[in-house]
Amino acid sequence: MRLTVLGSGTCELRARRSSPAYLVQAGEANLMLDLGQGAWRRLMECGHDPAAISGVIISHPHLDHMADLLPLLFALNYDPRLQETARMTLLAHPGVGDMLHGLEAVFGSWLQAPEPTLTRRWLEPGQGCELGGVRLSTASARHHAYSLAWRLEADGASLVYLGDSEAGDELAAFAQGADLIICHCAGSDDAPKEGHLFPAGCGRLADRAGAGALLLSHFYRAVDPDEALASARRRFAGPVWAARDAMVLEMDAEGVHQAAP
Ligand SMILES: [Zn+2]
Ligand SMILES: [Zn+2]
Repeated sequence: MRLTVLGSGTCELRARRSSPAYLVQAGEANLMLDLGQGAWRRLMECGHDPAAISGVIISHPHLDHMADLLPLLFALNYDPRLQETARMTLLAHPGVGDMLHGLEAVFGSWLQAPEPTLTRRWLEPGQGCELGGVRLSTASARHHAYSLAWRLEADGASLVYLGDSEAGDELAAFAQGADLIICHCAGSDDAPKEGHLFPAGCGRLADRAGAGALLLSHFYRAVDPDEALASARRRFAGPVWAARDAMVLEMDAEGVHQAAP
């Protein structure tokens, strides 16, 4: 399983930290975790082809996590190359499906990408499915009424993506034994943000979950990544990275290691 960070930032408009988006390559699948603004541009800058994406997972419908969904729907409808070759599954909470219906009412047929180009699957918290050899399971995250935390398992490796969330016993249980947890530390230890994690909380969550490794991401300008790393490392003994756009982590039988840059 291979993770490429496409967006390590937030809603802040920054050249080097795009809004949240990640590429996971596992089994037969190429999955996008969230689609913050700039996700498709960063994917291509990292040498990947949007037409090869087989699944798009949305953690919750805040714009910094899904703004690039609209350009995707438009392109699946009108980009001849994508129309011909793309076969994607969109996965999210049913509430996201309701919101998309609302957007279709605003934009009309321009956003109605047809099957089999795009297959929509709405999952309630606790439901799961299989996509291209990757087992997907979900839990409720503590952030938005339509939030889902995601667990991906394939090739003997497991990755947990909480999206934006506060910590909780149920999320520590959901992430139990994962090889890697992606944690969004939106606030600092001194100034935590409601509905989000902070560096010490990320470290404690990874420790309680018995995770193999921890990736801190979703950095606002106000949060110093080095301080966040130091704080998380005081609470969690495994490897910890501070995400940067274009960073690549590989997960295999020997654990998690940084492949680039
Ligand atoms: Zn966010
Ligand atoms: Zn959010």
